[in-house]
Amino acid sequence: MNAEIIAVGSELLTPQRIDTNSLYITQHLNALGVEVLMKSVVGDDRVRLAQQIREALERVDVVVLTGGLGPTEDDVTRDAVAAAFGRTQSFRQDVCDEIAARFARMQRPMAENNKRQAMIIEGAEVLPNPNGTAPGQWLRQDGKVAMLLPGPPREMKAMFNDQCLPRLAALLPAQVIRVRAYRVAGLGESDLDQIIAPIYMKYANPVTTVLADVGDIQVHLRARSDSEEQANALLEEVGAQIEAALGEHLYTNDGQPLEAVVGRRLKERGETLSVAESCTGGLLAERITSIAGSSAYFRGGFLTYCDELKTALLGVDPRLLQAHTAVSEPVARAMTEGCRERTGSTYAVSVTGHAGPEGGTPETPVGTVFIGLAGPTGCRVVRIFSGGDRGRVRRMASQVALDTLRKTLS
Ligand code: AMP
Ligand code: MG
Repeated sequence: MNAEIIAVGSELLTPQRIDTNSLYITQHLNALGVEVLMKSVVGDDRVRLAQQIREALERVDVVVLTGGLGPTEDDVTRDAVAAAFGRTQSFRQDVCDEIAARFARMQRPMAENNKRQAMIIEGAEVLPNPNGTAPGQWLRQDGKVAMLLPGPPREMKAMFNDQCLPRLAALLPAQVIRVRAYRVAGLGESDLDQIIAPIYMKYANPVTTVLADVGDIQVHLRARSDSEEQANALLEEVGAQIEAALGEHLYTNDGQPLEAVVGRRLKERGETLSVAESCTGGLLAERITSIAGSSAYFRGGFLTYCDELKTALLGVDPRLLQAHTAVSEPVARAMTEGCRERTGSTYAVSVTGHAGPEGGTPETPVGTVFIGLAGPTGCRVVRIFSGGDRGRVRRMASQVALDTLRKTLS
């Protein structure tokens, strides 16, 4: 079964608001085995929206609409769907009473135009909205399904999950979907694809999707079958080859981010970590502490942006800073050693670099970062160069810092 998503709202065509609903909907449709073939954003225009719905109905089995169910003139989704399906709408007193009751509970008067929200398309099922006033609608015709969902994400999610997914699942042939989410660090997207494309191209099932982020690539395998054993076997057949090809670049098969994998290893080993950050300005510590339970292994860190604080807090010799500058191998080493000594952690990681756009030197241009790792068996420093803007350089630095530690822990 295939689907199309239409996000309705003129505000979604401005730079101020972005359609996030379709991401959520896609994720859950995929998990059911329904592929999303197209999605679109349409402004609050009855005619254009009806046209888009008609075209969608020619392409796919399921059309999901979000937004435009409000009480005002510019909320046109009900009208457009009715027009596209060639159906009338009628006022439903019971639905209106529900809406009125909600206003009463919130001790607010109900405006006359809220009655528009009780207009229901002929033959549609009403989807009650426990989190807002606009009810949704579920409509079937000639083997096609359309669902009308409210725009506010909180309302949309609850309605879609609780009322639409079970209805959709009942229409689907019984099938099992199994997903394996590999994540890879330390490889570029094209290098990775050269390695694994010859493997996954041979298989239509599981379907393989590659999602690249800064220094981090996800490889998702999604297998469908009529039995769980068969789905798992399909995943294993392709997965085993991908694992062998990627080796130590692969850091997880359960979709967890690098900071979670590193945290899990530290916890298993009963070891601790501290950080000394310069150009990442706390990003590394932020990632580490975003994991629930990180207090079991993360002790804290130093944010030493200027030279004076590198000396005062980490004991970096001012002569080193003088001779080599702050963005150098010896300073990264001194930072991480100072950090480990002062915190008593099993491991200390340091980051110092030029995030740009200004401040590089011919020897260490913008994008150069030194990452130090000190542990029980000594200290080493990795030098990396990362293209892109300031945000990318900082993100890449935090990623390589975590990955360097991850490799030490495995
Ligand atoms: P509406 O149901 O069109 O009145 O939308 C109400 C509010 O929900 C809008 O002002 C947006 O803030 C939000 N919203 C609508 N559509 C979306 C969407 N596709 N993704 C995220 N937020 C949305
Ligand atoms: Mg709207």
